[in-house]
Amino acid sequence: MPTPAHSSRSPTDHRPQTTSLLAWYRAHRRDLPWRRTRDPYRIWVSEIMLQQTRVDTVIPYYERFLRALPDLQALAAAPEQALLKLWEGLGYYRRARHLQAAAKRIVHDLDGCVPATAAGWRELPGIGDYTAAAIASIAQNEPVPVVDGNVLRVAARVWGLTDDIALPRTREQIRTRLQALMDNTPAAHAAPGDFNQALMELGALVCIPGDSPRCAECPLQPDCIACRDDRTAELPVKARRRAVPHYHVAVGIVRRGNSILVQKRPAAKMLGGLWEFPGGKLQSGETPAAALRRELCEEIGLEVIDAEPLGIVAHAYSHFRVTIHAFLVIAPSRFRARPTAADEARWVTPAALPLLPMPAATLRILALLEKNALAR
Ligand code: SF4
Repeated sequence: MPTPAHSSRSPTDHRPQTTSLLAWYRAHRRDLPWRRTRDPYRIWVSEIMLQQTRVDTVIPYYERFLRALPDLQALAAAPEQALLKLWEGLGYYRRARHLQAAAKRIVHDLDGCVPATAAGWRELPGIGDYTAAAIASIAQNEPVPVVDGNVLRVAARVWGLTDDIALPRTREQIRTRLQALMDNTPAAHAAPGDFNQALMELGALVCIPGDSPRCAECPLQPDCIACRDDRTAELPVKARRRAVPHYHVAVGIVRRGNSILVQKRPAAKMLGGLWEFPGGKLQSGETPAAALRRELCEEIGLEVIDAEPLGIVAHAYSHFRVTIHAFLVIAPSRFRARPTAADEARWVTPAALPLLPMPAATLRILALLEKNALAR
């Protein structure tokens, strides 16, 4: 780690701590599939999948994705629905769209050559400072620091920083200090990918959130202000997030004979291109059944005669939570859906439903539906 603000040491005095950190990482790092390669494409895919998503969740998605789309050319040429199906359940689907848009740009505009620097990666859709630095340092050995939540926590504790780490200026301050460390410490400069991953791994495994980091196991402990001053519970400082809104939603699994109606969400909206059952938010004072009747009338032109409750599903997105009230609805045999809030409506058999890419909450309703069918 770089020279702490309280110290009169020069940056090079901290070589032992940097060396200890790298030695710790090489001895303790988790064996993850993306750590067995230096292929920029594979590291890029892993970094995009890991945004907002746990390592354990990402591993099977990563392996399946690369089996189906093993290189840039395959990703650029993949049909959108196949891409969304590979991403189904991982959430934040814009990541998949940006990944493909960037792959197309590399294949069509850059002769298939990936950017050689973090600055070049940042020019591509869906790649910000963190991802650009991660790919360039890990796959291409460029000495640029990464700053993610784990790194912010470790840095705030080691340096005893009391600024709010949620603020962009704190993030920038830490990035500048890390860059100075990298530039002044040969071990970090020579292995920037390992150095960056070491800090992130330390934050994930040892300098964990909450009031009980594992300081006794930490290679940075000799230089850590938070540990020295017994302030690990109060650092890092992070502003409390505002309460997350919570919505109630009513949806109908509308059957006509042996087919079920699904709608494709508009491409420009959240979860665009994914398929779901028609429905929408409850208005103030509305019951789920009343909301269902109103929504199905507005969205597909169906007058609901009879609706049977199927079950309730709760789901959390990054910035809101939903409770979904699902109903079984029988449509008249001559009913033709007129979608007003979707790109497309389609009648599919229950067996064909799992072939369509769907949001995680819709998949859970599907599971309820299967359970219900088995119970009958
Ligand atoms: S000594 Fe403790 S608080 Fe300091 S970096 Fe290590 S784990 Fe975090």
